[in-house]
Amino acid sequence: MFDNLTDRLEQSFKMLKGQGMITEINVAETLKDIRRALLDADVNFKIAKQFTDDVKEKALGQQVLTAVKPGQLMVKIVKDELTQLMGGETAEIELTGSPSVILMAGLQGSGKTTFSGKLANMLKRKKGRHPLLVAGDVYRPAAIDQLKVVGEQIDVPVYTEDGNKDPVKIAKAAIKEAKTKGHDVVIIDTAGRLAIDEQMMKEISSIKNAVEPDEILFVVDAMTGQDAVNTAKEFNDTLDFDGVVLTKLDGDTRGGAALSIRSVVEKPIKFVGTGEKMDAVDVFHPTRMADRILG
Ligand code: GDP
Repeated sequence: MFDNLTDRLEQSFKMLKGQGMITEINVAETLKDIRRALLDADVNFKIAKQFTDDVKEKALGQQVLTAVKPGQLMVKIVKDELTQLMGGETAEIELTGSPSVILMAGLQGSGKTTFSGKLANMLKRKKGRHPLLVAGDVYRPAAIDQLKVVGEQIDVPVYTEDGNKDPVKIAKAAIKEAKTKGHDVVIIDTAGRLAIDEQMMKEISSIKNAVEPDEILFVVDAMTGQDAVNTAKEFNDTLDFDGVVLTKLDGDTRGGAALSIRSVVEKPIKFVGTGEKMDAVDVFHPTRMADRILG
């Protein structure tokens, strides 16, 4: 097992000390280790291969400075490349509209309702915003109740329409209400299903077209590993979303989904969910995720 790839990389390069260069022969084993660690972290196979090929190119022939151990240099190359691939900088969300409209998309159980609450809470407490949450899951009364509970916990109002089964009308009415009541952010939680289906995609597209959100966030459970990539691709093909929210990173996943999703859909991961409570959320830090993936 590669519980600590960083140590291992440093070990396998100890012997290089004094040779001054990283060569094809002495990186082969290490690259294999890196690839295995990525696969272990649930990174998609093709992406892991592409990644190690890129790292090899960067590493080969690099002059090992006398001040830096070759192992450390290799670790740095790998981490920098991973960080770069995951977006380099921390991404912001677009909050320019008046009100700003944020639309949540994703499968049922991915964590949309929970994250809607976390985001509202964050915007209220840290940015002094006045959010309105909108219950757009009209099929499951339990989902509406769940959002109401969340709203009460963070003291943010929730817009619902009992008996209305048209999420497009609800979303539009909610924005109108936000304007009259002075809410500057509207967060629309939508219905998800257990798997991708055409009706869900049609519905969320209609909501997108009707409300023209400033930001569409795709919420995905980090524990779903490889499936997360396919789901992300399907949602992105339909919605052309702006960013990804990776939830349940408090579980034991190494988070390889972050790298795979970023590589496949080329959209930034903006937030991570780290628990069920309303404050268990963080902006996405590519460097931290690189460390986590490498273990
Ligand atoms: P939705 O169907 O997409 O709205 O998903 P929910 O928000 O209802 O979340 C599904 C389950 O996952 C709930 O039991 C949440 O408490 C839980 N959940 C959501 N986000 C996280 C997270 O970051 N960490 C953990 N451990 N659980 C989470």
